[in-house]
Amino acid sequence: MSASANTVPINLLDLDRKGLQAFFAGLGEKPFRATQVMKWIYQEGVVDFEQMTNLSKSLRVYLQEHCVIRTPQIVVEQLATDGTCKWAMQTHCGNRVETVFIPEERRATLCVSSQVGCALACSFCSTAQQGFNRNLSTAEIIGQLFLAQQRLGSERRITNVVMMGMGEPLLNFDNVVAAMNLMMDDFAYGLSKRRVTVSTSGVVPAMNRLNEVCDVSMAVSLHAPFDELRDQLVPINQKYPLGELMDACRAYAQNGPRKHITFEYVMLHGVNDSLQHAKALIKLLKTVPSKVNLIPFNPFPQSQYRCSSMNDILAFRDLLHNAGIVTTVRKTRGEDIDAACGQLVGQVQDKSRRHLKLPVAKAESHVL
Ligand code: SAH
Repeated sequence: MSASANTVPINLLDLDRKGLQAFFAGLGEKPFRATQVMKWIYQEGVVDFEQMTNLSKSLRVYLQEHCVIRTPQIVVEQLATDGTCKWAMQTHCGNRVETVFIPEERRATLCVSSQVGCALACSFCSTAQQGFNRNLSTAEIIGQLFLAQQRLGSERRITNVVMMGMGEPLLNFDNVVAAMNLMMDDFAYGLSKRRVTVSTSGVVPAMNRLNEVCDVSMAVSLHAPFDELRDQLVPINQKYPLGELMDACRAYAQNGPRKHITFEYVMLHGVNDSLQHAKALIKLLKTVPSKVNLIPFNPFPQSQYRCSSMNDILAFRDLLHNAGIVTTVRKTRGEDIDAACGQLVGQVQDKSRRHLKLPVAKAESHVL
């Protein structure tokens, strides 16, 4: 796990299979060293090079001297009454991001963060209020899955990953793609592309780029069917308005075996939840293979919105459903530990100009 003091060690968790193959090629080693090391790390949980017994002694010594396998550190673990578990993970620079495990009957989902804070300022999201510090490295992203799986043990396997934690994944493109490659790699976690979902607020150029390099499922945080309203709720809409966003969605859904885009729609009382909004949404989605996921708004301190009533949410859902759009209402999980959508705050030393700070999550927790 160590490297000599006076060189900057390479963190092997920063490299996906291609990256590792290039690294080993540079050492004059065969490409299969990459998959051997991946199996040790991600499938066996071995992080001590000395224990990687199918590598030659000299290679092990080299790795020991020049490389590390370093994840963030779990510093707080909170367990909700519904079984949801939230971890605060501390990075080497002292910031904290949050990762949430959501067990269900047929699947077990990990919600992973991609950035320390978020630069996008969506008005209904508490992560946004924190400001932005930096992108997470590939190691810090895949490290969340590594640590969560380690804490859960081999009987509780994580079956799905959603990039729906803190941050805008497509603004940390390269590191997120490398981490998702590892999630789907048979020599690492081997999750199918249907079980790895990237969620974006609509960074159109990056969606188009993703279409070229990676084949994961796509969720888009839509939240409004009109530009005027979306400009306020999801300000990146001012740069990439709905027309362009829908073009990117159509292109993404058409490429390869992907069948649909999931549209997330937070239900805000009196803001975006009327039947007019539902009708406009139906019209907007007419030419995109879509599923809609309605998210009851999760409040946080100083939030200016209220959640729509369940009656309004169900009426909205029924209208979409009757128009032939598969529509689900997201079950709020981990409410008692502030682990629900939009409630992740971690601990962010804000480098942006937003200074409004929110308190760190309350609830039963223990420091590890
Ligand atoms: N930045 C990415 C990833 C975040 S995913 C994105 O925007 O898609 C988290 C999801 O929860 C997004 O759809 C986000 O818009 C939604 N969300 C944010 N704040 C929320 C809140 N307070 N209540 C419910 N959903 C919220």
